[in-house]
Amino acid sequence: MISKLPVNCPFCEEEVDFEWSKYIVDQEKYHGEVENTIECDELECPHCHEVFNVFGSVYEAPKGTYSYHELSGEPIQD
Ligand SMILES: [Zn+2]
Repeated sequence: MISKLPVNCPFCEEEVDFEWSKYIVDQEKYHGEVENTIECDELECPHCHEVFNVFGSVYEAPKGTYSYHELSGEPIQD
């Protein structure tokens, strides 16, 4: 299971803890490891109130046990 994990706000660099499990768009199993692909649009930073997109992956090994994550916040392009 994925609990709250931090991503760095691209505007103020503060860590934003967020529950990502609702934003899993894909899940793939490798050898004993599960990659959960995360995409989240328009997350508001609680520190500076800028809005940004988040994408990346949260890994579980074995399934159900948090291993590590790579998430990045990107300013929204329009
Ligand atoms: Zn911020």
